[in-house]
Amino acid sequence: MTVRTRFAPSPTGALHLGNARTAVLNWLFARHEEGRFVLRFEDTDVERNVEAAEAQVLESLDWLGLGRDEGPDVGGEYGPYRQSERGGRYRDAAERLLDRGRAYHCYCLPEELEARRDAAMARGEQPTYDGRCRDLSADEEAELRAQGRSPSVRLRVDPGPVRFEDRVRGELSIRGEEFGDFVLLRSDGRPTYNFAVVVDDLLMEITHVIRGAGHLSNTPKQVLLYRAIGREPPAFVHVPLVLAPGGEKLSKREGATSVLDYRDRGYHPDAVVNYLSLLAWSSESGDEYLTRDRLVREIDLDRIGVADAELDPEKMKWLSGLHLRAEPPERLADRLVQVGDLGDEPEISRGELVRGAELLAERVQLVTELAEEMERIFRPPRRETSEAREILERDGALAVVRATGRAWEDLESWSGEELDAALREVGEATGASGRDLYQPVRAALTGEAHGPALPTVALVLGRRRTLDRLRDAAADAQTSGRHEAGEGHGDRDG
Ligand code: GLU
Repeated sequence: MTVRTRFAPSPTGALHLGNARTAVLNWLFARHEEGRFVLRFEDTDVERNVEAAEAQVLESLDWLGLGRDEGPDVGGEYGPYRQSERGGRYRDAAERLLDRGRAYHCYCLPEELEARRDAAMARGEQPTYDGRCRDLSADEEAELRAQGRSPSVRLRVDPGPVRFEDRVRGELSIRGEEFGDFVLLRSDGRPTYNFAVVVDDLLMEITHVIRGAGHLSNTPKQVLLYRAIGREPPAFVHVPLVLAPGGEKLSKREGATSVLDYRDRGYHPDAVVNYLSLLAWSSESGDEYLTRDRLVREIDLDRIGVADAELDPEKMKWLSGLHLRAEPPERLADRLVQVGDLGDEPEISRGELVRGAELLAERVQLVTELAEEMERIFRPPRRETSEAREILERDGALAVVRATGRAWEDLESWSGEELDAALREVGEATGASGRDLYQPVRAALTGEAHGPALPTVALVLGRRRTLDRLRDAAADAQTSGRHEAGEGHGDRDG
């Protein structure tokens, strides 16, 4: 049997991390089993659908690297993959249940139902449907239709316990009386959520329903539907909830919880996948940093716990740093291009971008931080800031800058070791050490007082730019030195 999992979001807004975690687990398990991962949009709730939400879901899944085997965008044999396009299938399924007496037409109007519900509650009874239309005769039905009532379709629910197995929580049981005869098709022909899900999961031959524990209350109704239809339910795997930091429900929290926010803030997508999987599951090895290959290999539904998990963006950030450093620099360079406008001023070549990514990755955790590090090195040095000027105007600073320029100019190969050794020789020759040696060179190269090791800066900048900047700094200092002296004279003369 081929394992088939599905991710079935309702396109009502940005994909938040809780739903993304559901997608991650379904995708990992399908890959682990060499099965199929299906995307289905549950868009029957038309009032709540947000136009751009479908596109955001697709963009989020693409960024996370969760490729679909079937779905509205890629097609497949079990389509269509939007519930709004599957109306005929729900009507057919309802028709079959009606034919077999497992469902019946209900002609009660919403206001009648509401009045009876209120009365039941006032009497302290369960406000479920009272079964009034359960056993209507053909004549009674004809009469109600003649009144202009269009019926909904309800499932005939027998009293007694509904038992089902959840892979995470074991056997669960709920009494059928608690929800009564529920609606499958509304009077306008639209399916209810539970009915559409079951019809789709059956027709799409879904073998494992992996979803948030919030859906546990729907499962008994779905189990009853499988029974009424006469088919075995899939395996149910209800994963614990993802909570916002502080323990609030994620859906109640505004902002900064959508997948695309984390992309824009520079998190590495592999880290997000890795982190989200850990919110439900743990590797037997105890390792937390897990590559995608390892996740696929090790994912195990029996290791999913029951405890709800709070988001910890700091931990995700730490994982981001690890995944970022594990990535080939060419791919990192692609990500740099995506996050920033690097390469505008001055022109940065592809090769320089790749080399920079390789050299600077160890200093950062986020792709945006990498872009900033790069930007701080490549942008024209800000030697006019008071800090840089103070450094470059110290006694001996210019001599150090000039000597470094000469020493580096003579290097056979532009390598970290040679640059480092030459810099140390400059220190010996000029008598400068520590900050008196490093700070003038750094201020000359970037205009800053702090940053990566100088050989790293020189490697990122490359030979030509480095030597130009050292020369420019020396020339600038000289000009401004004369200028200041001249002004001084002018003052005295005046
Ligand atoms: N459409 C449902 C949701 O967005 C998921 C249904 C399911 O996984 O069974 O939460």
